[in-house]
Amino acid sequence: MVPVTKTFFPPLNKYTDHLKRIWKNEWLTNRGELVIELETKLKSYLNVPNVTLTTNGTLPLQIALKILANGGEVITTPFSYVATTSAIVWENCTPVFVDIHPEYLTIDETKIEAAITSKTTAILATHVFGNPCNVDMIEKIALKYNLKVIYDAAHCFGVRYQDKSLFNYGDVSTCSFHATKIFHTAEGGSFFSNSDDLNKKLYYSHNFGHNGPENFHGVGINAKMSEVQAAMGLSVLPYMAKIFSDRKSVVDFYNENLDNAKIRKMKIRHNTEWNYSYYPIIFNSEEALLKVQESLNEAKIFPRRYFYPSLNTLTYIDQKIMPVSEEISSRILCLPLFHDLDVINQNKIIKIIKHNL
Ligand SMILES: *Cc1c(COP(=O)(O)O)cnc(C)c1O
Repeated sequence: MVPVTKTFFPPLNKYTDHLKRIWKNEWLTNRGELVIELETKLKSYLNVPNVTLTTNGTLPLQIALKILANGGEVITTPFSYVATTSAIVWENCTPVFVDIHPEYLTIDETKIEAAITSKTTAILATHVFGNPCNVDMIEKIALKYNLKVIYDAAHCFGVRYQDKSLFNYGDVSTCSFHATKIFHTAEGGSFFSNSDDLNKKLYYSHNFGHNGPENFHGVGINAKMSEVQAAMGLSVLPYMAKIFSDRKSVVDFYNENLDNAKIRKMKIRHNTEWNYSYYPIIFNSEEALLKVQESLNEAKIFPRRYFYPSLNTLTYIDQKIMPVSEEISSRILCLPLFHDLDVINQNKIIKIIKHNL
C-alpha cells in the first residue's frame, strides 16, 4: 500500500529518552520543560521572534480570529483544508470567499478589494501546499482598509520567502504539527506573531486567560501543548534536514518524469525556498483525474483529492460561485510524497499516470 503521505517516526529510543525526562520531572503539561525547550529550538531553527506551541493547528486559527476578526466578515480562500473555513464559522464570523489564482492556487489578491465591505475585519488566507500568498500586496490592502491579516500556514514548516521564514508575515501565522504534516508532534500546532502586544494576547488566550494562578487577563481557552507532544517534536526536529532532502529527491524525480502536456503543476511564487510538502498535479478534466485515481487505487496506491470540494460549496455557508477554485478542486490530485517513498513505487505511479492520460 502506498498512501498519499506517511508519518515520519523517529527512532523509538530517541522518543523514550525524552519520555524519561517527563517521568523524572513528573510533569505532563502546563508548559513544562519540554514544551519550553521545543519552543526555544523552533525559534532559532525557524528564525522567528516568537513561537507558542498549541495542541493542534485549528485552535490557533480560532484564537486569532476571536481576537482579531471580532465576529465580522473574514475574507478567505475557498481552496484549503476545511479547518480554514470552519474556524471562521465556529468563531461566529462570516466567511467571504475570494477566488484563487489559477497558477499559484493561493487567494487572488487582485480580487480582494472588491469583496471588502464595512463589516470586513480580517483576511484569513492559506499559503496552500506551502506556496506563499502575495503577502506584500495583501499587506498593502490590509493597511489601506485597516484589516487584520491571519495566515493559515499549516503547510509551511521550513518555507522561506524573500529570505525569511514565511511565518513572519501577517499579524499572525499559524502552523499545524499534525502527524500528516512535514514536521509533527502527533497532534500539535503553533502561532507566530511579530507584534509583542498581539503575541501576549494570543498567549494568554491559549491558556484560559491566566495571568498567574489567581488572575485573568481576559477570556481564554485551553490550547496548550502537552509534554508528550513536545517529546515527539524534540525527537523529530533533528531529522528535518534529512526529511527535506529526501522529499526533494522524490519531488525532483516526479518533476523529471511527469513532464506531460496533459497535466500541469502548481507554480511556486518567485523568491520562495519551498519545503516539498505536497505534490499536486492538475488534470485537463475531472474524468481524467478519476481514471488515473482508479488505476492507482487498483495498484494499492492512494493519492488524495486535496483540496476537494472547494470550500465555498460547504453546506453550512452562504454559497457563492468561485469558478477557478471549483474548477481546480475538481481536477487536482496530490500524489504520494513522503521521506522514504522509493524509486520503484515512484516509477509505478508515474507509469500508471502516463498510461492513463
Ligand atoms: C492540517 C490543516 C489544518 C488543521 O490543523 P490540525 O493540526 O489538524 O488541527 C488547518 N489548515 C490547513 C490548511 C491544514 O492543512
